[in-house]
Amino acid sequence: MEKCKARIDSVYNGSAVDGKGLRCVIFFTGCNMRCGFCHNPETWTEKGIEISLSDLVARIKRYKSYIKNGGVTLSGGEPFLQAHFCKELIKALHQENISVIIETNGLICDEELIELCDGIRLDIKNQEREVDKKVFDFLDACQAKDKFVTMTNVLVPTLNDTLEKLNALKSIKEKYSCIKEFKFLAFRKLCESKYARLNKPFPYEKYEEGTRADLDRAYDLLKF
Ligand code: SF4
Repeated sequence: MEKCKARIDSVYNGSAVDGKGLRCVIFFTGCNMRCGFCHNPETWTEKGIEISLSDLVARIKRYKSYIKNGGVTLSGGEPFLQAHFCKELIKALHQENISVIIETNGLICDEELIELCDGIRLDIKNQEREVDKKVFDFLDACQAKDKFVTMTNVLVPTLNDTLEKLNALKSIKEKYSCIKEFKFLAFRKLCESKYARLNKPFPYEKYEEGTRADLDRAYDLLKF
């Protein structure tokens, strides 16, 4: 019986928004945060579908020609909670010349996993509180390994689009040269129906969705 197993919610093939090119996205279950704007509350459960390393690799290999200009994105949930599996998965996919990036909240700094992956998409959570200090340890490790980091931030109108919050983001970007890209993501409410299905209140119902103009204003203020 194969020992290396993960708990996932789903595998989505064909994402164009989770990194460069067309990508196969693995949504791991389990998360160490509960962001009020989360698009994937179905991944918060510790349960999920159990899948073995060999089954997942075989499944991804079927999409190989499709993702040849992109790769695989490990997402969730928080992939760093299943770091051992992620490391073995990346090693196996590298043998197939498939590149792998990880989407993370940056609260778990596993240096070996950072080293192994081909890039990080770090979403900075500053909506309701200051950026957690652990994120700086995470970025220190990315910097030491010169890892390509794309920093993202979900912009929620009236919540984290103040000059003070934007300047705090700017100082992070300026401090770390490993942050090669920065993207604001507009807050969206498409996930509302998921909360209803899970019988959970949607904590950010009261906020307006972010518009293109909101993003432009934020980029403009930061001169990114
Ligand atoms: S870290 Fe990501 S998956 Fe976890 S609650 Fe926040 S947005 Fe959702």
